[in-house]
Amino acid sequence: MSRVAYVNGQYQPHGQAVIHVEDRGFQFADGVYEVWSVFDGRMADFDGHMTRLHRSLNELRIDIPMTRESLTQVLKETIRRNRVRNGIVYLQVTRGTARRDHPFPAEGTPPSVIVTARSISADRSEATAKKGVAVVTVPDIRWGRCDIKTVGLLANVLAKQQARERGAYEAWMVDEMGLVTEGSSTNAWIVDENGKLRTRDTQANILKGITRTALMDLIAEEGVELDERPFSVDEAKRAKEAFFTAAGAFVMPAVSIDGVKIGDGKPGPITTRLRTLYLDQARRDAI
Ligand code: PMP
Repeated sequence: MSRVAYVNGQYQPHGQAVIHVEDRGFQFADGVYEVWSVFDGRMADFDGHMTRLHRSLNELRIDIPMTRESLTQVLKETIRRNRVRNGIVYLQVTRGTARRDHPFPAEGTPPSVIVTARSISADRSEATAKKGVAVVTVPDIRWGRCDIKTVGLLANVLAKQQARERGAYEAWMVDEMGLVTEGSSTNAWIVDENGKLRTRDTQANILKGITRTALMDLIAEEGVELDERPFSVDEAKRAKEAFFTAAGAFVMPAVSIDGVKIGDGKPGPITTRLRTLYLDQARRDAI
């Protein structure tokens, strides 16, 4: 029996149903989902799932371009077209398609809406329930693996959006001790009030930036001392210089933090020198 998926207004053969490569769900995990059980073609706990969906969307400030009635109709129609008597219906709503960039796309960008449904054998489920199943325990790492360059970037997206809304280019994230971890898409550095170059060690839960590593090699070649040690927000605000690194941003001076001017409010000499050194080497060694 051929399956059907609903994608942005159209019912398509399941095997050919696609979303855009720059859908924010795919690029950033910037979306939400719900799942309903289907009994005799009808959805269970309908209002509970619908209410949670609207709460999730509201928390992420994703507008759904559909009334609750239209969405209900699409869920029912997807169940019907897939001839699901007993099974499951999935709904995904993402912040839509836009040129890849962490902040929210322009207002009016329509969210993506995807609905799929599949049958589950009631007999098999009953047989499993009759025997019971095994459980294992695992550490709860959600989401404590920022060392992995995963596309699960929702928290980074929300941080970058806050930066934009507060008139800034980047957001530096702060841990429960008040220490800066890293930028939403960059590694954070300062020249502290004693003139010491500092960036957080990568034992912490941060991404080990390739630009960071390349810059460290250059710093060592220059004979400049580097203190690989976390710094607090207060230390950053008192710093002589501040900057961040990433592919694309290279070495980018930060001239204010939370509205507090860093140094004299202009890119500092060490930052400027490191940017030149990095760009010269990157250009020279690029293959
Ligand atoms: N931290 C985060 C969270 C990032 O997403 C990135 C990359 N954009 C970086 C740091 C910098 O890594 P790289 O120098 O490898 O670009």
